[in-house]
Amino acid sequence: MGFEEKIVKNMPNSIFKLFRKILLIFSGSSYINKLVNTIAKKIKKIMCRGSGCICLICGVELSNFYKLPFNEDDPRFGELECPYCGTSSRIATLYSYLKHLDIFNNENFSKENNFKVLHFAPEKHFYDEFKMNPQIEYYGVDLCPEQYKINGMDVKKVDITNIPYDNDTFDFILANHVLEHVPDDKKAMSELYRVLKLGGGEFCKFL
Ligand SMILES: [Zn+2]
Repeated sequence: MGFEEKIVKNMPNSIFKLFRKILLIFSGSSYINKLVNTIAKKIKKIMCRGSGCICLICGVELSNFYKLPFNEDDPRFGELECPYCGTSSRIATLYSYLKHLDIFNNENFSKENNFKVLHFAPEKHFYDEFKMNPQIEYYGVDLCPEQYKINGMDVKKVDITNIPYDNDTFDFILANHVLEHVPDDKKAMSELYRVLKLGGGEFCKFL
């Protein structure tokens, strides 16, 4: 282990809390934001440099994943993150489940099947995988679609409690970490049930 690596690996997580505070102070300055993010990312990479773990999403080899510095009362406490692609452990877990379902495999679908996917609050990596499959009719949706423009994603505005599609439209619906943010989650569930095709449809949700 090199000197630089030794120093950074022993660096307490409080340094990232400090970065976050700096970010808040200079939140109006995109230059400072970018600079702080770049430095934080570089440090995270050094902290995780090595071998023994492989990121399921980007395939990079690491000694460990970066542990997110949240307090115990934060719902993300204990989560891990890939310092290269930014994938969190909950996304990686979902990814391995979707791979297990073989949902991204081109050979499972055909134009005739007309397989339709509705994806709420679309995660970039899943969005890209679905979009790459020309056999899937994919709908990435969110109540606030503007936030996805920065990543070049085409996301439509849809309220999960009032879904503007016909009954029995979708073969697969993905709504990951969505329902806990919806005040009327019962209405949302009934809407998801309504637009999901009967028989063979799959609904996936994680908290
Ligand atoms: Zn990664």
